[in-house]
Amino acid sequence: MSGSAKLSRGLAPYAAREEHSRGRRHPEPKPDFRGEYQRDRDRIVHSNAFRRLVYKTQVFVNHEGDLYRTRLTHSMEVAQIARSIALALCLNEPLTEAISLAHDLGHTPFGHAGQDALNHCMRPYGGFEHNLQSLRVVDELEDRYADFRGLNLTFECREGILKHCSLRNARRLGDVGERFIRRRQPSLEAQIANLADEIAYNNHDVDDGLRAGLIEVRDLARVRLFERQHAAVLEQYPGLPERKVIHETIRRMINFVVIDLIRTTRGRLEEMRPSSSDEVRERSKPLAGLSESVLEEHLELKSFLRDRVYRHHRVLRMTAKAHRTLEQLFTAFMDNVDLLPAEYRDAAHQGQQEHGDAGRARAVADYVAGMTDRYAILEHRRLFDPGERT
Ligand code: MG
Repeated sequence: MSGSAKLSRGLAPYAAREEHSRGRRHPEPKPDFRGEYQRDRDRIVHSNAFRRLVYKTQVFVNHEGDLYRTRLTHSMEVAQIARSIALALCLNEPLTEAISLAHDLGHTPFGHAGQDALNHCMRPYGGFEHNLQSLRVVDELEDRYADFRGLNLTFECREGILKHCSLRNARRLGDVGERFIRRRQPSLEAQIANLADEIAYNNHDVDDGLRAGLIEVRDLARVRLFERQHAAVLEQYPGLPERKVIHETIRRMINFVVIDLIRTTRGRLEEMRPSSSDEVRERSKPLAGLSESVLEEHLELKSFLRDRVYRHHRVLRMTAKAHRTLEQLFTAFMDNVDLLPAEYRDAAHQGQQEHGDAGRARAVADYVAGMTDRYAILEHRRLFDPGERT
């Protein structure tokens, strides 16, 4: 049996297969003892951007406590959920894992607040979008291999990383942008990684929100997804300590949604019978998804989190601080790129020569976006606090 045949063993016809891969931007010899998507995953894990995820956050700032999710643990939870689903559906597990682990590599410090702030700063220069930045990290910004810039990932992995994209950006992205212009779908592996992302953060933000005291269990009584499992746990284990009740409830919530996703998607696949991954891509709507009733409950939880957690005054204060910090960093570097560390300063000068102010701004945005929460706080002090060492 050939190497690629072995790797495709047990895969459904609609799974991504290495022998049908659209390949890497810079052709490379095949890896020994690993598949191409395993190599993608390994390169992601060894990247600088991946290590930085440990000090980047989504909702809570990193120094608020050691138990909150960081982007690193979030990415690992996404990969865990996505791999379970991929295996149940006989999809390509290493590809699903690689996309999951890379999906947040382009995130700014300070979570959503950071992304909004940087997008605001970059508005006159083409905007900033974390999805696009994740692709930029793996295609351009990681610079550690002798033969190419970036990680030189496969098309399928890059396609999965680029979840959304404006038409304007899609037009300049070439092959990975095509599907946005044609309004088509990515592989099922990418669809699964995307849904696993939503399942992971919806559930862990309930957990972190409770732990931070932003919400209480009784606030969640109107959230059906939570309430159903919570009631079942209380009935089965009367007198269980609250922390365990919460954990037991959340683990059941994840399980409930994941099982619905597997069953619903399996049903659609049995009905549509796509004969290849390309046939999945040619569809105008995604094939992976939740049943109507669970989707409604999933959206109900999402809107609860938006109103009660993401708009909590303590989170909004953090958001406002993050906005100010990133805006001031961006402006200071934009006004004087010689304040940047040498490699970004050179990139800024080169950007200015090639693309004018937009080129300079892009280099500044790359530097700011790459910062961890704590590095951004330190860098802000170094620039604005005369008592701080530079
Ligand atoms: Mg995510």
